[in-house]
Parts: sequence; C-alpha cells; structure tokens
Amino acid sequence: MTVAAPGFLRPSQLARLNAEEEAAIAAACPGLGQRVAPEGRSDDVLWGPYVWMKTGHATDPDLRFAGSSGGALSRMLIHLVETGVVDAAVTNGADPDLPIGNVTVIAADPAEVAASAGSRYAPSAPLARLAELKADGRRFAFVGKPCDVAALRALIARDPSLNTVFPVLLSFFCAGVPSHAGGRAVLAALGTTLEDTAAFRFRGNGWPGRATARDRAGEERSMSYHDSWGQILSRHVQHRCKICADGSGLAADIVCADAWEADEAGYPLFDEGAGTSLIVARTAHGAALLADAETAGAIATQPFDVATLAAIQPGQRERRRALLARLAARRLAGLPIPRYTGLRLAAAARQNPLSRNVKNFLGMMRRSLRSRPRTE
Ligand SMILES: Cc1cc2nc3c(=O)[nH]c(=O)nc-3n(C[C@H](O)[C@H](O)[C@H](O)COP(=O)(O)OP(=O)(O)OC[C@H]3O[C@@H](n4cnc5c(N)ncnc54)[C@H](O)[C@@H]3O)c2cc1C
Repeated sequence: MTVAAPGFLRPSQLARLNAEEEAAIAAACPGLGQRVAPEGRSDDVLWGPYVWMKTGHATDPDLRFAGSSGGALSRMLIHLVETGVVDAAVTNGADPDLPIGNVTVIAADPAEVAASAGSRYAPSAPLARLAELKADGRRFAFVGKPCDVAALRALIARDPSLNTVFPVLLSFFCAGVPSHAGGRAVLAALGTTLEDTAAFRFRGNGWPGRATARDRAGEERSMSYHDSWGQILSRHVQHRCKICADGSGLAADIVCADAWEADEAGYPLFDEGAGTSLIVARTAHGAALLADAETAGAIATQPFDVATLAAIQPGQRERRRALLARLAARRLAGLPIPRYTGLRLAAAARQNPLSRNVKNFLGMMRRSLRSRPRTE
C-alpha cells in the first residue's frame, strides 16, 4: 500500500496477477460489492442484521476515558486476549513517522491494546499484513473498518482455515475515511504544521474527546470533535465512501459506535461526558463473547432502543437513504457501481422524501459527469 495524493492509501501493483489471484481479489474486494443475509437475525433496514444492540462501556475508568466513546471495543479486545480466545489483537495506532497517519498494531497485552484505543480518522490498511498474520501461528481478534471486515469475512468464506487465524472480527460504525490532507488541515487550524508535530490524537481521552496535537517542545493544542470532524475532516472523506452501503460493520461479530446523547429534537449532542459506546452483537458468536465479558465484569451494558438510532446517527442514516439515488445516477452516467445484495437499498430509499432522493440523484449525476473518463 502506498500513499497517493491527497493522502489516501492505494494498492500498488508490483507484479502480474494470475487468473486465480484476480478471481480471489474480485470475490473479496468490498469495493466491488457486498452480500448480506439475515440468517434468522433481526434485520433493520438501516442497520442490517443483528442479534442485539445495547449501550455500554469498559468498567475500567481509564480505558473508558482513553477510548473513542466508552472504550468497549478495546476492553473486548483485552478480554478476548485475557480469556485465551485469541493470542493478540490486530489494532491501529499512530504512525511514529507520520503522527496524522496510521499503522497496524499487533497488541498482545492490555497496555498495547489501551495505547491503540481511540478513533483515527485517517487511512488504514490492516489487511496489508494478512500474509504475515497467516504465517504467524497465533490467533487474532481483528479490528477494522466495515470494509476491512467485509473483505476478511469474504476471504474466510473462500479459505475456512483463516477462521482459526481470526476467530473474532470486530468493527465500528464508519462515516468514511478522510485523507491525510484532512489531518494536515486540522493541524493548520490549530496553528501548527506536521513538521512541528510530535504526536496527534484525533479524539479519545474523554467523549468525544478533543483532536490534540503535541509539538516537539511538549506544548498541546486542541479543538473539539464538532470542529475537527464536523468542520474539517468530514470534508476530506474519499468519494468511494459516499457510495458505501455498509457504514455499520455488517460482516463483524461485534460492532461499536458512538451512543450519542440527543437533544429534545433527537439530534446528537457532542458535549464532553463519560463515554458510552453503542454495542452491536451482529452474530450469535459475538453475543456469547459479549455476555462472557459482561459476566466477567469487563464491560457494563444498558438496554438500548434501536428505534432511536437513526436520530443519533444522522450521517449514517442519510447516506443509507441516499444510496440508491446516488448509485442510479452513477449507473446512468456510465460509471461502475458496486454490486450490493441483501443491503435493502430500495427500502432505505423509501424512508427518504422524493425531493431528497432527487437532490442526491442530481448531485451525484453532476459529479459523475464531471469525473467520467474522456474517450477522445
Ligand atoms: C474513520 C472512522 C469513522 C467513524 N465513523 C463513525 C460514525 O459515523 N458513527 C459512529 O458512531 N462511530 C464512528 N466511528 C467509530 C467511533 O469513533 C468509535 O470507534 C466507536 O464509537 C467505538 O468506540 P470505543 O470507545 O468502543 O472504541 P476504542 O476502545 O476507542 O477502540 C477503537 C478501536 O478501533 C481501532 N481504530 C481506530 N481507528 C481506526 C482506523 N482508522 N482503522 C482501523 N482501526 C481503527 C483502534 O485501534 C481501536 O482498536 C468512526 C471511526 C473511524 C475510525
């Protein structure tokens, strides 16, 4: 994987692929499409199949504070290692050579997992180390974006021996990946530069936690989540993420997200407070592991009304509802679209007023015509 302007990770082809390798990539690449089946689970139009949804947090106050929301994902990883379900966790941390970038971290003890808690709104490629992890001999809990997990699930379906290597897949809700240009823009708004930055957190250390840069002299500058994600980073999200049908980790066993508090109108509040994660058990396997963690006192959970989720996740809600219109526009403009099966795009679109579907269709059509490859 190499960094391409304006700061996204892209695969760089080093050798010709044979037909079998091409077929394996085509079968697993979530960019080309995704298939989802409820298999007896509740199947929400916007949020997909699940066993249950609750809110919760790590009972360890330090981990709860360090995590993006309630530290539930990190605590689950630690629990899985402590109970011997896996030997280590595949997580993500700051790149020591690029503080606004990411590196894949193999965390085998609680301190390493805790050090990689917190969302990092920058490109990551945890599957780039797949061959190494397969050869390693240990079992891993894998954390990745919904697309990483969808790819790994599809790879497992083709090669069941990978099930032993990755017995648990975890994910988080994902609104899309901003480029490194987004991280640089946050630094600029903080009045500093990448060159002067020794360490950078996108959030965490509180809920939502502030985007915080520490310079080489140890001085910290920070801005709120509302300003960093809401005003800057969300504008640097790559286009492919805008036609993603899976922002909620449909292929994972366990998914966490922000269980934002809402105002009287139902809109999310981003006031700092004690972190709370939305916890989704997507599979019976995930539900059993979460129940075990709760019995062990590692996480605490509270009931959650799934009907309230659309209000506190407006970005996810709008993208799901707009998707069919956006895909129709791309198709009409002659651009390729992903093949989605079982993702209930028509039912999601029906939740939108016609005017909003038309607006999304026209917006995507304009963009598609501009970006269509020229043939002359
Ligand atoms: C790009 C991005 C977009 C997101 N969009 C949404 C959204 O729309 N709605 C929402 O509710 N939540 C979103 N989240 C997730 C949210 O910020 C929290 O991760 C989630 O609430 C879980 O919090 P936690 O405290 O339980 O997890 P933590 O205990 O903080 O654990 C988070 C885990 O995710 C890993 N991780 C962090 N960043 C990355 C990355 N870039 N790639 C791979 N792994 C990573 C960490 O290494 C850690 O293992 C997004 C996160 C990211 C990275």
